[in-house]
Order: sequence, then structure tokens, then C-alpha cells
Amino acid sequence: MGLLIRGGEIVTAETRTHGDILIEGETIREIGPGLTAPVGTEVIDATGMLIFPGFIDPHVHIHLPFMATFAKDTHATASKAGLIGGTTTFIEMVCPSRNEDALEGYHTWKQKAEGNSACDYAFHMTVSRYDEKTESQLREIVADGTASFKIFLSYKNFFGVTDEEMFQTLKLAASLGVITTAHCENAELVGQLQQQLLVEGKIGSEWHEPSRPEGVEAEGTTRFATFLEQTGATGYVVHLSCAPALRAAIEAKLRGVKLYVESVLPHFLLNKTYAEQAGVEGMKYVMSPPLRHERNQPVLWHALQAGIIDTVGTDHCPFDTEQKLLGTKAFTQIPNGIPGLEDRVNLMYTYGVKRGGLDIHRFVDALSTKAAKIFGLYPRKGAIDVGSDADLVIYDPEYRGRISAKTQHTNNDYNGFEGVEIEGRPWVVTVRGKVQVRDGVFVGDPGRGQMLKRKPQYVRQTEEVRVMVHAD
Ligand SMILES: [Zn+2]
Repeated sequence: MGLLIRGGEIVTAETRTHGDILIEGETIREIGPGLTAPVGTEVIDATGMLIFPGFIDPHVHIHLPFMATFAKDTHATASKAGLIGGTTTFIEMVCPSRNEDALEGYHTWKQKAEGNSACDYAFHMTVSRYDEKTESQLREIVADGTASFKIFLSYKNFFGVTDEEMFQTLKLAASLGVITTAHCENAELVGQLQQQLLVEGKIGSEWHEPSRPEGVEAEGTTRFATFLEQTGATGYVVHLSCAPALRAAIEAKLRGVKLYVESVLPHFLLNKTYAEQAGVEGMKYVMSPPLRHERNQPVLWHALQAGIIDTVGTDHCPFDTEQKLLGTKAFTQIPNGIPGLEDRVNLMYTYGVKRGGLDIHRFVDALSTKAAKIFGLYPRKGAIDVGSDADLVIYDPEYRGRISAKTQHTNNDYNGFEGVEIEGRPWVVTVRGKVQVRDGVFVGDPGRGQMLKRKPQYVRQTEEVRVMVHAD
């Protein structure tokens, strides 16, 4: 049985048109005005609705052992929450720690997801150490369709890599044509500043930001870019949070370094005063990089509009109140992270497009199309085109509501955006042609999601090729 979506306004990264969309099987068959429905086709009247390509969250954590505990979501809960919020594909960080075997970790993450996700998904593979086994393991993982790496310059002795290991990882990534994503903070400085603050008796969540100031992130960004430049690898800065780090990234882009920039939902809308609240209220807002001084927010919004920030993810990582309280005696023990997967699209639409003047095409681009292009999913994902997967978000721009932990689907007992108004929400969401969300409610197949296999797409031109092109 097919699906005909009639009368909506189709909004992509480039165009805005009225038209019908005919879906046959898992893909889009035809787009145009006045399409007729073959017998047995379900017709959805989308008059007054916007139709977006399914949104892609390029940075989430679902299965995550971290700081002596686990993030709260499962693939079942996170994927439903994502779909209700309009996200039809997420890319999850596989994060084995330094003392775990990388390949075993990869299979653990794959098994957790398989058959348990309602939306499609892919992985970034964290390289948390580099030893004699690493190259062959990473080659195997890339051959399995996971064509992006992740490195942490922070979290020394846990996920973090040394400069030597970063160099080896990027050399291999360059030769494989794989993109490397990076958490850019200087681990040594963070460690020293944390110890100094604790010795001074500064143990509350308000000291988290001072322990990893803006300059520490700018240094990490600069160093990552320099290593990309010297290895010829392509990179992607995750969750860039502040103006000094953004300047470092722009400097690198201007030098021709192949570098993309992601910022995440919390940094556009929240500032460090949230983490300065007393007790557990402040702890709920501890994440890394930390929430910043509010002067950074207009800079992030302008850079997003200008396309200097390429993508908007979430770094979705829910820990509940009880887990946050592990850090009562020292801010360094507070599990880092905040949920966001369910709310990214509605909040960026409301505070970007509706109230902030963000161009609606840039919104679609940053939350879907650009991520698909950077990570090798385009045009299967991130597009409304004939032949693309029928992942569609039929969006009701007239909806009015408020975010609340009481009504959310993410498995957590709080929401960092509690009480915040939203103007618009997904009304119907499809995953490869199947209606998974109707009238804002999950109605679909909880195991529909598939792992998306991706190919390396940053394979370097050889010297010979360059000479030939030049001779032309
Ligand atoms: Zn992350």
C-alpha cells in the first residue's frame, strides 16, 4: 500500500513549493501538483502543513556507560522520542572507554540498537586509544558501513586520546577517506583547573564552567584543526559552544582546512546561569563543553544563519536527578549531559525560524540536509526527491504547546527546557514510507529502524590526478 500526501507546502534546504508527494514502498515515487492516488493508497490531507525532509540528529548518546553510571534512554525510548520530535535518523556515538576493546565495543552498540530502534540510525566510532590492533579493527568497522570516527581531546584516561594517538587516527582516517569528529577541549588544562578549584573548596555545579573556560575549548579546536592540516584529514568539531572556539574554526576554514562545525541545541538557548543554580537544579545543566555566558548566543545564531556553523545536533545524553546527585560532593563527579533529541526541531523552529529570523531553508539544511551530505547519507536522506527514502515530517505550524518532563517520551525525570513554549510540532512522521507518528503520537513499528551503511567519501586525490587536472 502506498501513501499520497496531498496539499502540503514542501520545504527543503533549497525550495518551497506546494505539491503532492506519492510514496511507493519505502521511497518517494513522484512529486507534483494534483497527483492521483493508485488504488489502495492512503491519502493524507496536509493542507496548511509544512512538509520537511526527515530531520537528522548527527550527535546523540543512547547506550552510554559514563562516570560510573549509564545514560537513561534505550534505543526503544530514544527513537520514539526522536520520531515524535521529527527526527527520523540519528547518528549515535559508539563510546568504548580506553580500557575496552574497540571492536567488542562496536558490536555491543550494534546489538543494543538492532531491532530496537523505531527510526533509522548510523554510528560514529570512537577511537579511545591507538595500539597495534587499532588499524585493522577500524578498517573492519569502516568496511561494515561506519564511515566516521570520533575522538575526545578531553576526558583524559577515559575516552580521551593523546596528541600522538590523534595524529595516528587522523593519518588513518585520511588514507581511508573517513571523516573524524572531535570533542575539542584541552584535557590537561581541564584536569589542572578542576583540581585547583576543588582544593579551594569550590565543589558546586557553578564551578563546572570555570573549570573548562572558553579558551580551553578554543585551544582544543585550534589543535584539532592543526592536526587536520598536517595529516590532510577531514574533520568535524562537535558541540562548539562559544565565540573564541568559533573564531578558531573560522581561522582554520580560511586556511583551507577541511573542517565542519556542529553546535548543539542547549548552547543556542541556555546559558551558564542555569548551571549556577543551587543543588540539583544546577547539576541538571552540567554538560561539556559547559553552558556559556549569554554573549555567545547571538554569535552562534548568526554563524548558523551564515552557514559557518554547518549543523545543529543535540549531544542528547539523559541522566536523571538521582544520577546527577552523584556529584553532590564535587562538580567533577556530576554525569555530563542533558536530553534534547525530542525537542531539537520544535525549539529551533520556534526560536530560530518563528521568532529569530532564521531562514527556513537554512533550518532544514542545518538540521537535516547538511548532516546527510557530510556523513554520506545524501540523497537517500535529507532530501525530498524522487528516489529518496520517504522519511517525511508533516509539520503543524499552528500547534501551540509547552515542553514538560511530564509529557515527554525521553526516559528522564526532568527536561532542561521545562515550561518553554513551542510554536509548531510534527503532526505525521514517516520512516521509509511507513507512518510512525500520527497526530503527535507514536503509532508505528517499534523495530522499523535500520542501520544505515555509509561509504567513506573523503578519499584524497592522488598527486597524479591533481597534475592531470592541472594540465587540462
Ligand atoms: Zn557527545
